[in-house]
Amino acid sequence: MLQEVLQTKNELTFPISGTGSAGMETCLANLIEPGDEVVVCVAGVFGVRMCDIVERCGAHLIRVDAEWGHPIQPGQVREALKGRTPKLVAIVHAETSTGVLQPLEEISQLVHEAGSLFLVDAVTSLGGVEVRVDEWGIDALYSGTQKCLSAPPGLAPVTFSPRAVEIIGGRKSKVQSWYLDMTMVRKYWGAERFYHHTAPISMIYALYEALRLVLEEGLQNRFQRHRENHELLREGLSSLGFKFVVEPQYRLPELNAVCIPEGIEDLPSRRRLLNEFNIEIGGGLGAFAGKVWRIGLMGESCRKENVEALLSALKKVMG
Ligand SMILES: *Cc1c(COP(=O)(O)O)cnc(C)c1O
Repeated sequence: MLQEVLQTKNELTFPISGTGSAGMETCLANLIEPGDEVVVCVAGVFGVRMCDIVERCGAHLIRVDAEWGHPIQPGQVREALKGRTPKLVAIVHAETSTGVLQPLEEISQLVHEAGSLFLVDAVTSLGGVEVRVDEWGIDALYSGTQKCLSAPPGLAPVTFSPRAVEIIGGRKSKVQSWYLDMTMVRKYWGAERFYHHTAPISMIYALYEALRLVLEEGLQNRFQRHRENHELLREGLSSLGFKFVVEPQYRLPELNAVCIPEGIEDLPSRRRLLNEFNIEIGGGLGAFAGKVWRIGLMGESCRKENVEALLSALKKVMG
C-alpha cells in the first residue's frame, strides 16, 4: 500500500521506526559518507534541519536559499550544480513552516543531469497532494504518519530507488547511525527477518489502517478534497481580511499560511480559539513568529465542517 500511495515500484519502501525526522535522518545518513558534497535547498525550518543533519554526517554542505514564503527556483539549483557533482541534492516538497508547495520535476532533471541523487522530504505532502516518486525521478524520500496520512505520530515511510540502494550497498564506511542503518534494518524488514530492533507493532497496524483508508477514498479524490476545502477556507479567510503569505500557484492546500491582520493579537487570539472553541492553529515559526498563522487542513481533519467551525470561531475571536 505504501508503494501505491508513493506511486513507486521501489522495492525498498517501508516505514522506519520513528517520526518524520527519523525518516530525514535515515535518508541522509545512509546516502552520505564523510567528505561528500551535499546540496540542501532551504526555504524554511525543515530545510534548515536537513542542513544540520548533513553536517553531522560529515558532509561538505552547499546551501541554496530561497526567501521564506517562496519556492526554490530551478535556476538556483543549476547555479549550485555548475562544475560539480554532489552526492545528492535535498529539498522539501511541502514546507510546513511557510505553506509553500515546491515544484520538483524541473529540479529533479537538473539533479540527474549533474549525476547526483535527488532526495525529497514529503512529510506534509504525502496523502494531501500528488507525490509521484518514480515519474519525478526521486531517489530517496521520507514522510511521516501524522500529517496527511492521519495516523498517530511514530513511523516514517521511506523509499529508495534502485540506484540509491546500489549506492548504500557500495558504501566504504559504516552508516553513522546504528539504529537507522538500512543495510541492517532491511534484513529485518525483508524475508530474512533478521532481528535488529523491536518493531513498533501497534504503529504498523495504525499505518496499515490509515493507508487502507487513503486507498479506499482514492488518491485523486483525496487530493481534490484537500483542494476544495482549501478553496473554502481561502474564501472565508479573504472575506475576514486575511492575506495569504504564498503566491496562489505555490500554495499548499493542507497548510494555509496567512498574515495576522493589523490589530489582532497573535497569542491571545490563538489561546481563545483553543480554550473556547477547541481549535488549535499553528503560530509562525522563525522569521514568521508573531506575524503569520498556519492553518492545517490535513488528512481526516480536512473537512468542510472544520473549515466552517474555524471561520465562525475566528469571526467571534476577531470581534
Ligand atoms: C513535521 C515535519 C517534519 C518532521 O516530522 P516529525 O514527525 O515532527 O519528526 C519534517 N519535515 C516536514 C516538512 C514536516 O512538516
